[in-house]
Amino acid sequence: MTSIAERLTEVRMQIVEQCQQHKRLPDSVQLIAVSKSKPISAIVEAFNHGQRQFGENYVQEAVAKVQQLQELPIEWHFLGPIQSNKTRDIANHFHWVHSVDRLKIAQRLSAQRSDSQAALNLLIQVNIDDDAAKAGIAPAQLLDFAAQIAALPRVQLRGLMTIPAVTTDPSQTATSFAAMNRLFLQLKSQYPQVDTLSIGMSADWPIAIAQGATMIRIGSALFGAREHSPQSTGDSQ
Ligand SMILES: *Cc1c(COP(=O)(O)O)cnc(C)c1O
Repeated sequence: MTSIAERLTEVRMQIVEQCQQHKRLPDSVQLIAVSKSKPISAIVEAFNHGQRQFGENYVQEAVAKVQQLQELPIEWHFLGPIQSNKTRDIANHFHWVHSVDRLKIAQRLSAQRSDSQAALNLLIQVNIDDDAAKAGIAPAQLLDFAAQIAALPRVQLRGLMTIPAVTTDPSQTATSFAAMNRLFLQLKSQYPQVDTLSIGMSADWPIAIAQGATMIRIGSALFGAREHSPQSTGDSQ
């Protein structure tokens, strides 16, 4: 069986190759290791192999992991749907939130982020394919929504995230990611602090790098398939 360390080495090599192929600097793409539903031991194995950025989806599970691993210099990314009664836990245990698509949630994250911590980095989730099964704002709403987020204290708008519609046609995924990249460049031209385009998961990250991803979020390709659980409905969000 392949170890997490071996998969990490392999994925890193593929990222470098994909960057070279698309004339991008290898360090222009950050790898977020998505450890949802995986044990602490899996995170520690990846950490010991140099991984520092981890993504989680379920608040209760994530907070327990953050607390248990608080001695390690890990940057934690929250990727899942957010209920308003969970914003305090997210505001105080994470460095980044990728799934902001409601003003009320952003306002609560802003109000609940403690003064002793650096600003919480926020990404706006966009429903780029207008897919009823996905969270995210409509592209047409982006600039108004971004202006509201950018005005909030103790949070910093850093960019955009999407999960494209499920398809077996890579050109359709490329079209969705290219549309995200155009929105990203438009946003970046208005907000100098915007530098992050979080697109690409295990099945489609090479396409995401080709289309300008600055963060890719990889779970199963590093940690193996996840067990089915009621919570894993969040996966398809
Ligand atoms: C689960 C999840 C991932 C990782 O998915 P894989 O297909 O296992 O790589 C990435 N992003 C989000 C938002 C997720 O929920």
